[in-house]
Amino acid sequence: MVISMKRHATRQEIDEVTDQVKRFGYKVHSIEGEERVVIGVVGVGDVTACLESVEAMPQVEAVTRITAPYKFVSKEFRKEKTRIRVNGTEIGGNEFVVMAGPCSVESEEQILRAAEGVAKAGAKLLRGGAFKPRTSPYDFQGMEEEGLKLLQKAKKQTGLAIVTEVMSDRDVDLVAHYADVLQIGARNMQNFVLLKALGKCGRPILLKRGLSSTVKELLMSAEYIVAHGNPEVMLCERGIRTFETITRNTCDIAAIPALNELTHLPVILDPSHATGKRSLVPALARAGVAIGADGLIVEVHPAPEKAISDGAQSLDLGQFEKMMNELKPYVELWKDTRPQAVAAAN
Ligand code: PEP
Ligand code: MN
Repeated sequence: MVISMKRHATRQEIDEVTDQVKRFGYKVHSIEGEERVVIGVVGVGDVTACLESVEAMPQVEAVTRITAPYKFVSKEFRKEKTRIRVNGTEIGGNEFVVMAGPCSVESEEQILRAAEGVAKAGAKLLRGGAFKPRTSPYDFQGMEEEGLKLLQKAKKQTGLAIVTEVMSDRDVDLVAHYADVLQIGARNMQNFVLLKALGKCGRPILLKRGLSSTVKELLMSAEYIVAHGNPEVMLCERGIRTFETITRNTCDIAAIPALNELTHLPVILDPSHATGKRSLVPALARAGVAIGADGLIVEVHPAPEKAISDGAQSLDLGQFEKMMNELKPYVELWKDTRPQAVAAAN
């Protein structure tokens, strides 16, 4: 249920409404706009009685029932796209934002070369895993805090914001100390203890779709983060498991416009994990721009043949620059059609 207060409702009027809602056993979550406060109501209770009671309050303009199980992240709750500011860049606004960098932080030289190269080509965020979720326990597990420090150094040198994975609720504060955006990997999309811990981390989240998760499950995981206090969540399509083996994963490209219909959260495409093959990355990146993603996250390594993880899907710096140049006309079109696309999705 969403309650729209009358324009310029006073603090006392807002509190009266939230107190009334809480009396019915519900939780509230309010979004304070310049002119109007919107109160989201979630929980279990007598929804009809609560709705009728609140509707009768004079300071309330309208009450709408949200049918989707994911309340705060649904389009019913909020029509306009959520805009997330990261280090001077806005994701979900009028800029198509590219995040790029290696799969893993491997050394100072590697991350600094990657950062300089991707910044020069137009990326706004540097990616690089310091905590790595690896299928084999014998594979490189990441440089951990040392890797985070190298990312911080790369940020200082290039001005790029940092997006990096956090795998455990125990490490949220540590990673949030160094990173601008916390990435939740596909394997952790339903780690509910971790999702709850992100509610209070004070950083935007890049939530990757699980290998075998539905779009609805992705939205429910995002709902966990928002319901626990953090509205700044971006969703990432990174391919799902199917019977197809030509690509590492099957990119569910239709998930992008589907998400744009269902949620106001920004949507990012990862063409690297979605394909597993560097030759396919530029084509999928173009598809992402054309189909209405808000940005990309791309794996780029200064020497992909030497990469410790995901070398086969990593572009080298020259290939990344070429891809970014080739994307330019598509991004121009994206900018031109952006207002209509946003209006149509509403
Ligand atoms: C990654 O971004 O390197 C990664 C491990 O991605 P995913 O969680 O999508 O597999
Ligand atoms: Mn990777």
